[in-house]
Amino acid sequence: MKQMHNFNAGPCVLPREAVEAAIEAIRNFDNTGIGILEISHRTPGWERVMAETRQLWRDLLNIPDNYEVLFLGGGASTQFFHVPANLLNKKAAYLQTGVWAKKAAKEAKFYGEVEVVASSEDKTYSYIPKDYVIPTDADYFHITTNNTIYGTEIRYDMDCPIDLVADMSSDIMSRPVDVTKYAMIYGGAQKNVGPAGVTFVIIRRDLLEKNYRPLQTMVNYKTHAADEDRNISMFNTPPVFPIYVMYETLKWVKKIGGLEAMNKINVEKADLLYNEIDRNSMFVGTAAKEDRSIMNVCFVMAPGHEDKEKAFMEFAKERGMVGIKGHRSVGGFRASIYNACPVESVKALVACMQEFEAANK
Ligand SMILES: *Cc1c(COP(=O)(O)O)cnc(C)c1O
Repeated sequence: MKQMHNFNAGPCVLPREAVEAAIEAIRNFDNTGIGILEISHRTPGWERVMAETRQLWRDLLNIPDNYEVLFLGGGASTQFFHVPANLLNKKAAYLQTGVWAKKAAKEAKFYGEVEVVASSEDKTYSYIPKDYVIPTDADYFHITTNNTIYGTEIRYDMDCPIDLVADMSSDIMSRPVDVTKYAMIYGGAQKNVGPAGVTFVIIRRDLLEKNYRPLQTMVNYKTHAADEDRNISMFNTPPVFPIYVMYETLKWVKKIGGLEAMNKINVEKADLLYNEIDRNSMFVGTAAKEDRSIMNVCFVMAPGHEDKEKAFMEFAKERGMVGIKGHRSVGGFRASIYNACPVESVKALVACMQEFEAANK
């Protein structure tokens, strides 16, 4: 079979060894002779995986003891309303850096006043707004650290005068994060830490006691955190299989050397690709340079070469590139180079861009 290079934006490439381990677990989980798709989530073997997965999160991200780590269903989009349901009393502030951020703010309006402190919608979200004031009378400030569609990223942990809530769906575990700067971090697993089907929530314990309004049991974060054994805690059936693949994926991250090592590799990969985009006369990047994401690299045909977009798409496809079509709102191309995307794939794409330039000069 031809070697493929998977640049899908999510769900996306996973570490090979996590996939292989998952295949084996489907056949025979934990030497039980029964597959993981067929076991009870109350078997001791599963409780151990649950506990170890939470511990991997704690170890890799250095999560302090006064934070809970929850694995829920519903995707990041469900958190868009779970966050305000639990944390919005009167008013919340949102930074609008893309459509995901906009969708998050929309859901918050069901629960109270929403102040959008700044937006980069005027320029198709190609930059991160810098000059804004965070209202200190808001209950929290919501940011989207990586804007998957536009290839911009807030690659630092900001100081925030109020509780900071971050959607880190597409850059979680890509770099070390100072969790103490955040009140809550959440996201869907399917970009950087696993397959679709599980949502991670890291939340400071004191936030579980807000009780601003009566909440349905499943919406209340406290439900999922409350258990005498915090590491095993399962209120209802968790997404067992996605959590298992996440478990294997995080073991792989740990084996590589944790998030310092992961960050170094990610920066190297992103530099390779951005350097080529900046050098190559056929392409230009779409995101403001200082805000460039190291996870999603967006580029279009350079002025004068717009007519070659289809040709490059075909050219790249023939060479095994998968999933490089840009989101329809940006156009052009997007290479998602998440943790599990091997440097070889990035080098193959760079070589492909160079060949295309040589063939079309
Ligand atoms: C993909 C994505 C989402 C949506 O996640 P779902 O799990 O599909 O709901 C939200 N925010 C960001 C930043 C994303 O990249």
